Amino acid sequence: MAYLINPQNTIAILQKYNFHFQKKYGQNFLIDSHVLDKVIRAAGIQEEDFVLEIGPGIGTMTQFLCERANKVAAVEIDRNLIPILEETLKGYHNLSIINEDILKLDIASLVCRENGGRPAKIVANLPYYITTPIVMGLFEGGAPVESITVMVQKEVADRMQASPGGKDYGAISLAVQYYAQPEIIANVPPNCFMPRPAVTSSVIHLKRHKTPPVSVLDDKLMFSIIRASFNQRRKTLANGIANASNLPFSKEQAQDAIRTLGLSVNVRGESLSLEQFAELSDSLWNLGIWGGGAG
Ligand code: SAM
Repeated sequence: MAYLINPQNTIAILQKYNFHFQKKYGQNFLIDSHVLDKVIRAAGIQEEDFVLEIGPGIGTMTQFLCERANKVAAVEIDRNLIPILEETLKGYHNLSIINEDILKLDIASLVCRENGGRPAKIVANLPYYITTPIVMGLFEGGAPVESITVMVQKEVADRMQASPGGKDYGAISLAVQYYAQPEIIANVPPNCFMPRPAVTSSVIHLKRHKTPPVSVLDDKLMFSIIRASFNQRRKTLANGIANASNLPFSKEQAQDAIRTLGLSVNVRGESLSLEQFAELSDSLWNLGIWGGGAG
């Protein structure tokens, strides 16, 4: 099978199978070999690796993954793509094609089965409508993951990599940076895809930390505080915490904890670093009234 990564070969396969793009599945297939090369290089695939590809489409990236990795599992929700993948990838014997919704798949069991529990490398041109649940699911779901190299909307990549104080900084920046070191590899214009998406894209590499960069007594409390402070971005951090229905702290308790960090009581969440959120969380946890966020 010829490589698919050019418009002619992609169109030929789509026509052969009379395939119609499904907008609801975020189908924008990559047709630019330079971009594909950047994704594959950034993923740093070694011959002993197990790679999980999310949304293989017609198999454009999968061909390159199969040639470099020890094993590849490609999870595709659209059953109309399965016969196409069976043709375009038929020469590769180190591949399993799984017709499933990635959000419903038990990824931890898959990695355990396919790679004896050793960490997987995740590579994907992601369906943009579910970027955050996929990425956070990979970090929080307990599956052993070494790195995530993905195409996402540029805006989302910028948020993942943002530092305190900037307009892009938010809960997703802190969540991603708690689990991984983000690095934006390249920006990718719409004409590198078929059909063209309405937005610019970026390739981002997330290298999972062996241990989180901050230690915190209760990470669930810390993330509840983070979400509360960015849900009400225009309010002070103390008000955000006091107004959150799942946090038991009064405005005065929040202000006291903020003061112990040496910060103004009028500070907003967007200026705090991950370290400061961890410190604030520990200080509130020590009040002994956090019950785990129920209710
Ligand atoms: N990897 C291909 C490429 O680069 O040309 C296709 C990328 S396209 C942006 C996203 C792919 O994810 C599509 O093939 C789509 O059908 C698939 N997809 C969408 N939602 C999915 C889900 N919940 N689980 C698994 N695959 C999904």
